[in-house]
Amino acid sequence: MISDRSKRIKPSPTLAMDAKAKAMKATGVDIINFGVGEPDFDTPENIKEAAIKALRDGFTKYTPVGGIDQLKDSIIEKFQRDNSLNYSREEIIVSCGAKHSLYNIAQALLNPGDEVIIPSPYWVSYPDQVLLNDAIPVFVKTHESDSFMVKQETLNSAVTKKTKALILNSPSNPTGLTYDKRTLEIIADIVLKHNIFVISDEIYEKLIYDGFKHISIASLDNEIKAKTIVVNGLSKSYAMTGWRIGYAAGPKEIIKAMTNIQSQSTSNPTSIAQKAAVEALKGPQDFVTSMRNEFDRRRRLLISELNSIPGISCLSPTGAFYAFPNVSKLYGRSANDRQISSSSDLALYFLEEANVALVPGEAFGDDSYIRLSYATSIEDIKKGINRIREAVGKLRRRD
Ligand code: PMP
Repeated sequence: MISDRSKRIKPSPTLAMDAKAKAMKATGVDIINFGVGEPDFDTPENIKEAAIKALRDGFTKYTPVGGIDQLKDSIIEKFQRDNSLNYSREEIIVSCGAKHSLYNIAQALLNPGDEVIIPSPYWVSYPDQVLLNDAIPVFVKTHESDSFMVKQETLNSAVTKKTKALILNSPSNPTGLTYDKRTLEIIADIVLKHNIFVISDEIYEKLIYDGFKHISIASLDNEIKAKTIVVNGLSKSYAMTGWRIGYAAGPKEIIKAMTNIQSQSTSNPTSIAQKAAVEALKGPQDFVTSMRNEFDRRRRLLISELNSIPGISCLSPTGAFYAFPNVSKLYGRSANDRQISSSSDLALYFLEEANVALVPGEAFGDDSYIRLSYATSIEDIKKGINRIREAVGKLRRRD
């Protein structure tokens, strides 16, 4: 009955894990949830007030499909201020979340059989969005020993005549690592040499630690800017996941095609959410700094605790709000009758035996890892880690 296309994809595994944890919680189980991909902070008051004012003012009608000019101008200013990038209104589209912008890009750019290079581990939606557009995801494995950065040789050898684009995500979900300028330059060279596009997902731009500076690949020079579509959004930086505002910036023809597609699918993003987004981008930014500082505190605690558990090792992430520890040393062990041979086995073991929810690395294309979000309180991090430590302690090697 359903289309071949829809059979090719699976529901978002991160949202599925979150739903399972919430369902257990609803039955009264005390779950510590490291599965979530959203800040646990509330949207700042000034942003909420802007939406309330928009409602009161009757700003409740259709807006231009790709966003109101006032919001586009705020986004243009943001790009100038934060990334030294200059765009015009025709080079910007506002969508219903960054995920929607990414989907529009896939629709606007991809023909059946086109290949899209996706460094792995990757954010869960990239491959499925490519598949939904009858194109082919080509995974390029990155390694913990290289801080999960793509290597020149591997990237070069993944490019074929069918390659249309490469998806970059820095800071990264799930690894929490950020690309340095040198690596971005190497990637830009390859992109220009092969005349492909870069889709640069920079949604975690504001959540960055240890003195790292976020660099947008589009800001390296005008040549690479002309081949890049930058994606960003309000969800993570301003704790606005439910408001559904994301945006993209790139070459006019692509943005125009995306806007046409959006005009035939969702139309404009919610009018009052757009007004709230203007306030987020133009209003005081101290919320962003204090949220970042709190995430940093949690990050330090979580990473040092994880590394103190025998069998678990974790690189120190420099961005986003995820830890991505290597747990492969625990494979081959068992507790009672439960065998642990994969990240899914381990995630299920932690959920059912320790009441801790997290996401198996398999969902991100690497089964040696699990992903823990630290968008949860220090108290819960301490409690959750103790539970994990105890559960790991119960695992015995099979002889
Ligand atoms: N990109 C990445 C890497 C993400 O982690 C997320 C949210 N989980 C998104 C895009 C989508 O964000 P939104 O649609 O809420 O703007």
